[in-house]
Amino acid sequence: MSPYFRLIFLAFLMFYLIPTKIFAQKTEKDGLPYLYGKKVIMVYGGWDGHHPKMFTDRVNAWLKTKGAEVTVSNSLDIYTNEKTMSETDLIIQYWTMGEITKEQEQGLLKAVKNGTGIAGCHGGLGDSFRKNTEYQYMIGGQWVAHPGGKINYKIDISNIDDPITKGLVDFDIKDTEQYYMHIDPNSKVLATTTFGNKHNGWIEGAVMPVSWKKHYAKGRVFYLSIGHDPKDFDTPSAWKLLTRGIRWASGSKYQPKEKTHTPIYSSQTRVGKN
Ligand SMILES: [Zn+2]
Repeated sequence: MSPYFRLIFLAFLMFYLIPTKIFAQKTEKDGLPYLYGKKVIMVYGGWDGHHPKMFTDRVNAWLKTKGAEVTVSNSLDIYTNEKTMSETDLIIQYWTMGEITKEQEQGLLKAVKNGTGIAGCHGGLGDSFRKNTEYQYMIGGQWVAHPGGKINYKIDISNIDDPITKGLVDFDIKDTEQYYMHIDPNSKVLATTTFGNKHNGWIEGAVMPVSWKKHYAKGRVFYLSIGHDPKDFDTPSAWKLLTRGIRWASGSKYQPKEKTHTPIYSSQTRVGKN
């Protein structure tokens, strides 16, 4: 290699590869990972009523401002590309219902088990592939109802110590779906909502997680149930929850593993007397 090319090669290392590596391992001031230089795959499709492309375009535009390297796919076949999946830091999926093949599912699960993060919202992550229980085991919740359809409701921030929710206060969200879900009781819940008596009165007072973080083997999993319509993210606190959660999930390969396993039931306490 001539000295000239060696110099160019070194300059490339210094100004591109090395900073990317440094940024990948560091967190920003708010304690959440940088997206700069991270490899992100956005996968969208499924039921069109959720405007998966519109959602993807909006999040993609933001990811680019953060310096992420984004690949967008409207096919689940990308999950079967072992090389691409193993190099990916984060998957953002918006795919409501639909079907996933065995090979596609295995590709996705394997990548997350090995440390690729996965993040998303509403039906795009919490109501995908209804027949696939291992997928639901990974996500930590499955949509079952949205009583009353599009309504107004309140989000309660339940954990103010976490970098994802730090500084956020309870907020209202309008004209959108309040998700009732079947939930893994061991995830770290970040926000909840409480059901009223107007629709399906028997669930009055039911407190339901709206957002949580968890692990699936080495991979970070972030979920937010807001997002029936991309306009839901015009509410600044909803957008903050989503984007901070995405950033957190991008860090599994670089940051130390957090304790996200926070069981809500205790084996040491018993209600009632013998
Ligand atoms: Zn919906």
